[in-house]
Amino acid sequence: MTIDFTFSKRQLEMREGIRAIAKNVIRPQALAWDREGAVPEEFLRNFTRLAASMGSNAMRGGLGDEGGPDVDVHGKAHADTRPRSSGANLFGVLASEELAWGDAGLLMCLPGPGLGGPPVRGSGTPEQKKRFFGIFDDYETGPLKWGAYGLTEPNAGSDVSAIRTTCRKDGTHWILNGRKCYITNGARASWTVIFATVDPALGRAGHRAFVVEKGTPGFSVGRIEEKMGLRASETAELVLEDCRVPAENLLGGEEKYVTKEGFMTAMKTFDNTRPLVAAMACGIGRAAYEHARDFVKEHYVLSRSIPRYAAIVERLAKIGRGLAAARALTWRAAWMADNGFANAKEASMSKAAAGQAAIRACIEAIEICGAEGSIAREHQLLEKWFRDIKVYDIFEGTGQIQRIVIAKRLLTDLKSF
Ligand SMILES: Cc1cc2nc3c(=O)[nH]c(=O)nc-3n(C[C@H](O)[C@H](O)[C@H](O)COP(=O)(O)OP(=O)(O)OC[C@H]3O[C@@H](n4cnc5c(N)ncnc54)[C@H](O)[C@@H]3O)c2cc1C
Repeated sequence: MTIDFTFSKRQLEMREGIRAIAKNVIRPQALAWDREGAVPEEFLRNFTRLAASMGSNAMRGGLGDEGGPDVDVHGKAHADTRPRSSGANLFGVLASEELAWGDAGLLMCLPGPGLGGPPVRGSGTPEQKKRFFGIFDDYETGPLKWGAYGLTEPNAGSDVSAIRTTCRKDGTHWILNGRKCYITNGARASWTVIFATVDPALGRAGHRAFVVEKGTPGFSVGRIEEKMGLRASETAELVLEDCRVPAENLLGGEEKYVTKEGFMTAMKTFDNTRPLVAAMACGIGRAAYEHARDFVKEHYVLSRSIPRYAAIVERLAKIGRGLAAARALTWRAAWMADNGFANAKEASMSKAAAGQAAIRACIEAIEICGAEGSIAREHQLLEKWFRDIKVYDIFEGTGQIQRIVIAKRLLTDLKSF
């Protein structure tokens, strides 16, 4: 395969636009949102309109659905004639890094299908896609709306096959019982993709995925979590008590589940979302790196001895190398998703690398800046990024889980490297 990271002229212009908004509009408010534990709805509404005016489709069909590279950066049609993908995943990681550089908390609470988008897009019937994505059609003018993804349970995080939320068919409905925890935008979502099992003894073959709509009898919100980082983003517990879900909300319809399709729906979601999460980590890590770099320029170059400066520059270089490598892995995983290549291993590689590189960047940046690095100010967000970044090595599969996935695939798929 020939990997091609060419972005269209329009996509590059959009990146510049996002970068300017992240710098001038988002970053200055990030600390206030962190303290308030929310982004004001008015800001979200204005931001949604602004994104739409830039031609973004992200709040309608999921992050990064913008038109892809039919033309190259100079506006010319590509010379080769092989079919081109929309570039949605590649553009998605580009945009995610920029927005997370501005504020990852904001990125997590943007309206739209969110993490619920990929399973509906990947496994939904045409009718389901129309119904569940259709509610976002009026996103520029209508009320703010979100989708969510409900997989994790109190006793099933990394081990997805251990979910205990049950589902039982009852005439034209399914009855769901169980609890989901740590669900991003769970309390505000118009619908949530909920994973349940017909029989825990069947393991993965027993899994089913449902779109459960807000207001469905028996579906309620439990606790809203107080978090260390990403405090502007809502993380909720969801409770299902004899919740009656219409049969037409079973994602993909019954014929999808003759094999292990329910479990595969959850896993396929990760192939698309792990690179996005990796890109967000790169954005936070890059923010910390740039802050430390500028601090070093301002505080050390003229007034401190060269050896000390050289040692610090070497640390900066190491951070920069780690982030650049993680970004390259992230773009590769996204490009593979766009072009129809199986990318589970590469998606895990991107996330494992980006989480670690960005955590290291945040820790080292604070150390380089000394006491100043631990102080919270509007233009000094290192302590916030330090709090925000840890979760990027936890959600969407922890770092350990990514390394297990990679190791398994390296040993079973010897030809793919
Ligand atoms: C801010 C936030 C937002 C989230 N949003 C969502 C969401 O929208 N939807 C959703 O469904 N979930 C969400 N989650 C949940 C998240 O995906 C889980 O926290 C994650 O999968 C890890 O599960 P766990 O917390 O139960 O940890 P555990 O699985 O209990 O892991 C605990 C530790 O054990 C290690 N471990 C586990 N199994 C193994 C193994 N086999 N080998 C070696 N080590 C192992 C892990 O790496 C980790 O270090 C969110 C979490 C957070 C914090």
